[in-house]
Amino acid sequence: MNLNLFNTLTGKVEVLAPEPGKPLGIYACGPTVYDYGHIGNFRTFLEVDVLRRTLKLLGIPVRHVMNITDVDDKIIRNAAALNQPIGEYTARFEKAFFEDLDALRVQHPEIIARATEHIDQMVKLIQRLAENGAAYQTEDGSWYFRLAAFPAYGKLSKKDLTGMVDGARVDVDEYEKDSARDFALWKAAKPGETSWDTPIGRGRPGWHIECSAMSMEYLGETFDLHAGGEDLTFPHHENEIAQSESVTHKTFARHWMHVRFLLVEGRKMSKSEGNFYTLRDLLIKGFKASSIRLALISVPYSNQMNFTVDGLIDATAAIERLRTFHARLVEAHLEPGSTELKASAEQAETTFRAALANDLNTAEARAPIFELVRMANTALDKNQMLAGDRDAILETLVFFDSVFDVMEDHDAEATRHAIEWAVAEGRSAEIDPKLMAGLSLSDADVDNLIAERTAAKKSRNFARADQIRDELAEKGILIEDSKEGVRWKRK
Ligand code: AMP
Ligand code: ZN
Repeated sequence: MNLNLFNTLTGKVEVLAPEPGKPLGIYACGPTVYDYGHIGNFRTFLEVDVLRRTLKLLGIPVRHVMNITDVDDKIIRNAAALNQPIGEYTARFEKAFFEDLDALRVQHPEIIARATEHIDQMVKLIQRLAENGAAYQTEDGSWYFRLAAFPAYGKLSKKDLTGMVDGARVDVDEYEKDSARDFALWKAAKPGETSWDTPIGRGRPGWHIECSAMSMEYLGETFDLHAGGEDLTFPHHENEIAQSESVTHKTFARHWMHVRFLLVEGRKMSKSEGNFYTLRDLLIKGFKASSIRLALISVPYSNQMNFTVDGLIDATAAIERLRTFHARLVEAHLEPGSTELKASAEQAETTFRAALANDLNTAEARAPIFELVRMANTALDKNQMLAGDRDAILETLVFFDSVFDVMEDHDAEATRHAIEWAVAEGRSAEIDPKLMAGLSLSDADVDNLIAERTAAKKSRNFARADQIRDELAEKGILIEDSKEGVRWKRK
């Protein structure tokens, strides 16, 4: 099955397929490591994870490159304020970024490319641009891209460049002006700032050149797909195209995927509005990493997403339903044979795949899975399920989870990590008190208390058994007695 994906460049849904015998090359813009990632950032990384996993589900091998922007104006400023070398400053946030990706179960790309480790490639690209007349140096020693040298500028974002002033320049990395400008490729060193001594002078790279140089380094001059959040379409991606195609005279990326923005409670997320959340903020408030993952990916990448606490609560309930059903299914004693449920499971899988292959429609993909769970729960209640049905349902769930990845419970680990971090950062007051109490018990402690409770019940010491149950509940541990024994989970 092919993946049909909207292409920002052509404005159409098109088949995304690799060249014969090659993996599909993906370059996705990574983080600027100057702070902890917020849930908007993670929405984009999660949607790229959905893309990656869908390609694998469809049998398409990938070579996925992500950059780490570990030098820029903010990094230099923040590191200087702390009197730290920029490498020391960024290492801390890069580590936090990967911890957060792991908490959200985002698969790592095949290649991680740090900007500071590719200065040579960037300098060479700027030299080639200069040879082609597309780059010029200013008096202070900085280098700029000459927009007038690239008539196709604007083809991705469909910007109208009439009224563009030749030679008008910007030297900041981020700008959202309506009008395009010559932009910085290389910034001459200012006293005290991190810089590199190179054949084009002493200085540091601009943000846009970084992605052109590193994507072509690992994927070649023309590659399959470039991805990022929708805010990057202009100017960042437009500038990447201009820099790359001015040198190669070939199509840079054939396909462009842009993830629509995440809003929080209907508004743009911002610190001043009080609706700004890092992943860590949510974890220490007691929300589970799996709920955040499911909430963020259940809205297709092509739709703007409104993040709400109600949405998180719904996602938590949905995951509970899945996990409880899965445990019940595995433990059920079933007779051999199968019923029409088997066909329903196979149909759910087909619908699931088709929805993902149709522009990564995660909302339509998950619907038949939850419907299957509902039907199968009813069949179990009525003792109408047979072993062959179970096999088919389990297989469908494996495919579902190869993309959604929420069935297995890794939440306690992610939460514990976030709590340790908050304590180390002196932010204990923000931690949900229930989480703190639960943390004082290790899994082994819980198992021991449950064994003691079982023994107490056997010797008819019900007072002690109830006491243990209450003590566990207070610490956020729920126990559930079933035919198959005692199950427990952290709230
Ligand atoms: P940054 O670290 O700011 O360069 O951003 C990393 C990624 O997050 C980029 O692909 C951005 O487009 C994306 N991003 C930033 N804010 C949001 C948001 N509110 N919703 C979705 N993606 C975002
Ligand atoms: Zn980029």
